[in-house]
Amino acid sequence: MPDTIVRIDPWNPDRELIARAAVTLSEGGLVAFPTETVYGLGGNGLDPEAARRIYRAKGRPSENPLILHVASPAEADSLADITPNAEKLIEHFWPGPLTIVLHSKAIVPLTVRGGLETVAIRMPAHPVALALIEKAGFPIAAPSANRSGRPSPTDAKSVFEDLGGSVDLILDGGATRYGVESTVIDVTGNDVVLLRPGGMSVEDLISVVGSVSSPDGEHVLKRSPGTRFRHYAPGIPLLTWREGEEIRFAGDEHGKKRRVISYMGMRRFPEETLRSIYFEDPENYARGLFSAMRELERSGAEVIIAEWPEVEGVGRAIQDRLRRASGGH
Ligand code: AMP
Ligand code: MG
Repeated sequence: MPDTIVRIDPWNPDRELIARAAVTLSEGGLVAFPTETVYGLGGNGLDPEAARRIYRAKGRPSENPLILHVASPAEADSLADITPNAEKLIEHFWPGPLTIVLHSKAIVPLTVRGGLETVAIRMPAHPVALALIEKAGFPIAAPSANRSGRPSPTDAKSVFEDLGGSVDLILDGGATRYGVESTVIDVTGNDVVLLRPGGMSVEDLISVVGSVSSPDGEHVLKRSPGTRFRHYAPGIPLLTWREGEEIRFAGDEHGKKRRVISYMGMRRFPEETLRSIYFEDPENYARGLFSAMRELERSGAEVIIAEWPEVEGVGRAIQDRLRRASGGH
């Protein structure tokens, strides 16, 4: 195993290892670490140079802003103007897979914010992430630890696969629990606006704030630059399929080695396939989707066919990721 990858107990993280990782961050280095959503590529969130290293390592456009990870709600107060909606949501859902966008204070470098007046903040529900942020003593900027455009990493091996040479340390805390990224919402105003569906369901948000608006594509593009880019895509074509539907092949995929990712309909899948990955419910589908994409890509498959889930709960986030991974096919 490469020596940048170090195992860490996700429930009871080793203090010396956390201290070592925190020193790496305070010296301007990059540390990949597990959260409850996916693995993050962490750097000092108040250091513009560290932010530039993150963009470079990921090959990420510098106008696609980074999420700041904090270890407490009080830490968010020092970074942004907390609105009443934000306060309510923080109380209910932090720590957890919910990122809130707020008006930024001057302390957050513009590089981190991709030049915007707003900043995105989250308190992760993972002992390793929380211990690291606490020990560092500053917020950690941490986008998903993949090359830009690739499926997000849900284990340390996938981080190494994408970023091996450009990260100083990878804390390996095993597979992540949600498997999809956080839900991102704009709470700068009275209206709560969904910018990216994710691990926290819209139904849960509505139960606390009454309503959540989902602006059309163009609006989201303006408000959340990251959604503009092609994303989450394996190195082979991915098509989506709904039970009872014919598969609409986009090009010459017909004779190719097809593999299926499915959660409900696999047994009723219309054509024989050589190998499939089956999940028993939407939660497990979300948890395993990105690693399934990577696994099938490594297995020599030429086309991935992924089942299109219902929109409820985490299904909304799965739909979003499949849409972007398939480029709309
Ligand atoms: P990632 O870190 O790769 O999970 O992506 C972060 C997501 O949060 C992207 O979709 C960004 O566009 C979004 N985001 C980060 N900061 C802001 C912000 N200030 N305003 C709107 N969206 C943001
Ligand atoms: Mg990402």
